[in-house]
Amino acid sequence: MPSSFSAERDRGALPAGARPLSSLVGVGPALVATLARRGLLCLQDLWFTLPLRYEDLTRITPVAALQSGQRAQVEGVVTQVETGFRFRPLLQVVIEDGSGTALVLRFIHFRRAQAAQFVPGMRVRAYGEVREGHQGLEIVHPRYRVFDARAPQLATHLGAVYPLTEGVTNARMASLVTRALAQLPCAAELDLLPPLDSAALALPDLRSALLAVHQPAPDDDLTALLAGTHPAQRRLAFEELLAQHLALRQLRQRARGHAAPVCAEGRALMHRLRVNLPYALTSAQQRVLDEILADLATPQPMLRLVQGDVGSGKTIIAALAALAVVASGRQVALAAPTELLAEQHYRSFVTWLQPLGIEVLWLAGKVQGRARNAALKRLSEGAAVCVGTHALMQEGVQFRNLGLAIVDEQHRFGVHQRLSLVEKGGTADEVPHQLVLTATPIPRTLAMTAYADLDISVLDELPPGRIPVQTTLVAASRRAEVIERIHHACANGRQAYWVCTLVEESDVLAAQAAAVAHIELSAALPMLSIGLVHGRMKPAAKQAVMDAFKRGELALLVATTVIEVGVDVSNASLMVIENAERLGLAQLHQLRGRVGRGSTASHCVLLYQPPLSANARARLSLLRESNDGFRIAEMDLKLRGAGEMLGTRQTGLLALRVADLARDADLLPMVRELADRLLQSDPGRAELILQRWFGSARRYAQA
Ligand code: ADP
Ligand code: MG
Repeated sequence: MPSSFSAERDRGALPAGARPLSSLVGVGPALVATLARRGLLCLQDLWFTLPLRYEDLTRITPVAALQSGQRAQVEGVVTQVETGFRFRPLLQVVIEDGSGTALVLRFIHFRRAQAAQFVPGMRVRAYGEVREGHQGLEIVHPRYRVFDARAPQLATHLGAVYPLTEGVTNARMASLVTRALAQLPCAAELDLLPPLDSAALALPDLRSALLAVHQPAPDDDLTALLAGTHPAQRRLAFEELLAQHLALRQLRQRARGHAAPVCAEGRALMHRLRVNLPYALTSAQQRVLDEILADLATPQPMLRLVQGDVGSGKTIIAALAALAVVASGRQVALAAPTELLAEQHYRSFVTWLQPLGIEVLWLAGKVQGRARNAALKRLSEGAAVCVGTHALMQEGVQFRNLGLAIVDEQHRFGVHQRLSLVEKGGTADEVPHQLVLTATPIPRTLAMTAYADLDISVLDELPPGRIPVQTTLVAASRRAEVIERIHHACANGRQAYWVCTLVEESDVLAAQAAAVAHIELSAALPMLSIGLVHGRMKPAAKQAVMDAFKRGELALLVATTVIEVGVDVSNASLMVIENAERLGLAQLHQLRGRVGRGSTASHCVLLYQPPLSANARARLSLLRESNDGFRIAEMDLKLRGAGEMLGTRQTGLLALRVADLARDADLLPMVRELADRLLQSDPGRAELILQRWFGSARRYAQA
């Protein structure tokens, strides 16, 4: 039965949501074009451009009550002004509000006229993000107003902050949204969820929810809105989670609608590989391998995620699965997110498969010119196995008959990248099987949502004989002792990592931090040979350093988090991680998994900058107490929220706008149940929900 929405469209009348943005008064062609670049095409796209957060300008926070990381509005009297223009421009304004603590307003870019506004005795009202500065709390580049006698009025509403759209100010976006909202249809027409479900959740209808989040009323529950727990936000979160889930399920359905090659051969090859391994598979590895082989033996494409903690032995499983596919005359591609990791896999695969007479190709960004052309040619002719990086997903790569696409450390790739690899292969009537490996342990409820398109296998056992990594927390003030410890370990023939995490968001700054640490450590430990590796180095240089470390020619390796995934040097048994408090637990656990790969006891030292907040201490202590990736992930989820843990990439499609997988986890069972029902009984309605949340752009991308 068609929904009322599509019925109306059938009659030719454009529903309000589908009206183009040019139908809004004052929106000309230039603005239309700017908005279109962001995928905003019709009114509905604006309705669902939800505020990222709110600015609370309705009240003043006493300086003494401020916390680092908080955004707040403050007001005080200027007591001190410091300016410097000569070497490095600087403007520091100290304000006091009688609460007993002073606050610094700091400007790095400013005009002279601006500096002149701040006169001791004047009052300032400022808004911005509070952080720990050199002289206590500070706000860098606050928005502010200087006044003398009459204080400006406080805002009555929470101000919505929209996602940044280039060429459109927030105020402009807010006004566009307001005009679009004026055209919202009545609740009954707008709501696509069966009324029963909303009622069962005691959540408002969609129309009220949209109005409440875009234009919070002055008397609304501001605390709940700021915390993201307002019923209106929950209503939207529910629908957003539903849309995400539907999209992933749709991906799965689409893939499953195709045929895949039946790959039931290869037992003899697998046997030959296995007898040459220095170990037997764990029972968990055997179980997961069996699950994969069963999938491969059917004419339906496999869509399987293997989740296994760092060091649980996923690579050999991938290689054995590859044999089944190669033996059935199809090609295998293995993509890894970093060149370091891909290269390591390439070597493992060469060691394992070449003796069986299987060709293994290498394709990474650094493979250029003639070598690249030769590799591409072999791929199109049907070379059995190709290992590589993102380069495998690029244009110009074409397989003859790809039977299996393996993606390692999936959280570093997006769903779309995985699919683009899948699209490189296959034949007219067959698509490849997909195998996805991840060491990011995700609690089950979450996994079923974030990976709703995949079946999940869990490797819940580590190979025998592993000695858990001993983790200690050490304040940065005891750095000298830690350096001495490295000296001691390396004197005894062990190797160590020193990981710099200072500025993970920036490649350049992270590389600089590592370079500085390298100089410092080289000076402190002149008797050791010390290497440096970071993301800004040329791949060949990076690889040369890694090789030297692997051969034991370097005792200590100073690195950025580029070594986070997959690096496997079993003689390395000590790792120091600087500024550990800045990283997520899952990431720390992953990093620490680089040691403890051999049979000696390994240590991980988490250096932190005091003071640690209670929450940070709880998080880091957990790492000291547990080596169980799943337990750590579960706690990390509680303490930091899913967004941090999964990253936007891992949820796959798009970043969640209102929903938070941890906060809204209780909604997930209902989301899945409703998704099942919609897909079965009303796929047209499911499609309309998808359009809302993924925008008109999606509709065109598919056309
Ligand atoms: P991950 O799951 O983190 O990708 P790897 O596949 O890199 O783990 O394996 C980690 C290490 O464990 C490798 O050195 C590998 O040779 C070894 N390994 C894998 N399986 C076993 C096993 N069943 N017994 C002993 N060692 C194993
Ligand atoms: Mg691995």
